[in-house]
Order: sequence, then C-alpha cells, then structure tokens
Amino acid sequence: MATEHPVKAFGWAARDPSGHLSPFNFSRRATGEKDVQFKVLYCGICHSDLAMIKNEWGSTPYPIVPGHEFVGVVTEVGSKVTKVKVGDKVGVGCLVESCRSCEMCTEDLENYCPKMVLTYGNKHPDGSITYGGYSDIMVADEHFVLSWPEKLPLDAGAPLLCAGITTYSPLRHFGLDKPGTHVGVVGLGGLGHVAVKFAKAFGAKVTVISTSESKKKEAIEKLGADAFLVSRDPEQMQAAAGTMDGIIDTVSAVHAIMPLINLIKSQGKLICVGAPDKPVELHTVALLTGRKTVSGSCIGGLKETQEMLDFAAEHNIAADIELIQMDYVNTAMERLAKADVRYRFVIDVGNTLSKSA
Ligand SMILES: [Zn+2]
Ligand SMILES: [Zn+2]
Repeated sequence: MATEHPVKAFGWAARDPSGHLSPFNFSRRATGEKDVQFKVLYCGICHSDLAMIKNEWGSTPYPIVPGHEFVGVVTEVGSKVTKVKVGDKVGVGCLVESCRSCEMCTEDLENYCPKMVLTYGNKHPDGSITYGGYSDIMVADEHFVLSWPEKLPLDAGAPLLCAGITTYSPLRHFGLDKPGTHVGVVGLGGLGHVAVKFAKAFGAKVTVISTSESKKKEAIEKLGADAFLVSRDPEQMQAAAGTMDGIIDTVSAVHAIMPLINLIKSQGKLICVGAPDKPVELHTVALLTGRKTVSGSCIGGLKETQEMLDFAAEHNIAADIELIQMDYVNTAMERLAKADVRYRFVIDVGNTLSKSA
C-alpha cells in the first residue's frame, strides 16, 4: 500500500519483477517550508532503472516508479525556500535526502552519507516509499534540487543528473581533469559517452576502450575521442600498456579488469563506476609493482552536481539522446537491455505522460 499524501500524482510503475511499466496513481507530500514542487518535463532512462524494475539487486519495493534524471518547472515553493522560485527550471538526480550532519554531509558528499535516501525505491524517514521521475509532479527539499542553467537543454541535459555526475566526479576527484592527462573510458554507453565529453572539455587525451570496433567511428568523429582500443585485441592492448593516467570503467557486466590495470601508468588509477553483480578478479601484484590504485565512485554530492551542470552548460555538453513518448517506455527498456540506444533514452514526460493515462 502506498502511503497517502495530499498531492495527487500520476506516473508509470512496475508492479513485479517482470519489470513491465504501466500507469499508476499515487501521491506526494504537500510542499513543506523548505520544499520545492515542480512539474516534470523530461526524465532520462538510466540503466539502474532497468535493474530496479526487474529487482536485479533484490531490494525493489513494488510498485516502483523509476527515474532519477529529471527536470521540470517549479510550480510551488515553501516559505523558507531561497534557491529557486516559481517558474524556474530545476532538476533532481539520484538523491532526495541525507542526514545533513555526518562527516560526509558536512563535506558536501551527501552521496556517501550512510542515511542518504535515493530518489526512488527507497524510504523517506517517515517510512513512505520514494517515487522517481516517470511521473507528472515532484516534491523535494530545496537542498536536493538543482538549479538548471539557462544554456543547458532540458531534454538532452537531463541524463547529466546521473550519467553526467557519475563520470564528472571521479574525473575531478582523481585529478583526471587536467590538460595533458591521458584518460581511458571503458564502455561507450550512457555513462561512457558523457565521460568522453567531460574529459575532452578538461583538455585530456581520451582513449575509448570497447569490446568491438563497431563504435570506433562515432567515438572519434562524433564524440571527439582521440583514440580507440578494442579490448579483445591483445596486440592493441599490449601496445597501449602503461600509457594512461587513469581509466573510468563504466561497464556493469562482469568483465576482466587486469587488462585495464595493465593500460595505466605507474601511480595510475582505475576507477570503477559500474556495478557487476559478481566479484572481479584482481591480482594485487599488478598494483604494488606500479603503486596503482583501483577505486570506485558513486554519483556526486549536491554542490558538485550543480558545478557539473554549470560546467556542462558553459562547455555545451549534454547527452546524445533518443527522445521517446511515455507509452514507448517498455520497448525502450527492452532495447536498453540490448544496449540498443545511442546513448540515452529520455522520456518526454511533459508532453506525453497525461495522454498515456
Ligand atoms: Zn542512474
Ligand atoms: Zn549524512
């Protein structure tokens, strides 16, 4: 049973692990004094949405309304809201709450707060379930609402709220944001293609690492990568050994990481942002002989997410998207499962959700 709140909301939800999405009436809380209410216009489809609707991580509360890359226009603000006003464009990413007082929160790293609340399929402190952006209306505390830069497109910009910050944050944190650094990007999907754009905007040399030659032309000609490596070609991989300062590995399927560690220089870093469901094999000798680091990174804090959006606007960075109608979402999920999208589906919620009722 969904907890009843006063604001009527409508979206699309999955009811069981088949993952099939269909129209769903639910409710949102009334706008509190620090809350922002907005009409959702666009929502990106993240790979996590697919995993969650099918209960791949075993934690899905049904019914689930996915979506954590969404933007819209403010319709109401609470009396103590200072960040935005009615009519402003805003976005919400993966987080809607955190404790606001722990070490991580005080360092603007709400994404690592032990009490952080995910935008959908999670629980508010009052026990009610969070619902995401495949819906007409959203209410969130202003701290977790991003101001949308004027220059950034709403539709193609929406995926930056997860895919963008997930790659921007490790590039910045691990010092891969400087001209002259050589950055590898593994996997050219929703995350990988924006990783290439950010790394290029930072002035890095970018090499895309992919299992097949099929995306080479677009990686170089369209996304601006400097080089392309086929990971299944041992000769190419050996020729590039020890050349990269860092690698952003966006692959969520189980895959070998030792060949990637071989590509980085001494003191280089392999940063994993995908989450395979089984352990990966790691021989520590390959780390200690070059003082190499294998790390992980998960989205970013609110301050950094705002910084990322502003940076993207300034450098004309957005996702390459396929805009779809709400009632196409189940087909889109099937295609996403086969990686059949260049590179992110975005739902035209504002124009097509109400027609799907
Ligand atoms: Zn996501
Ligand atoms: Zn905290």
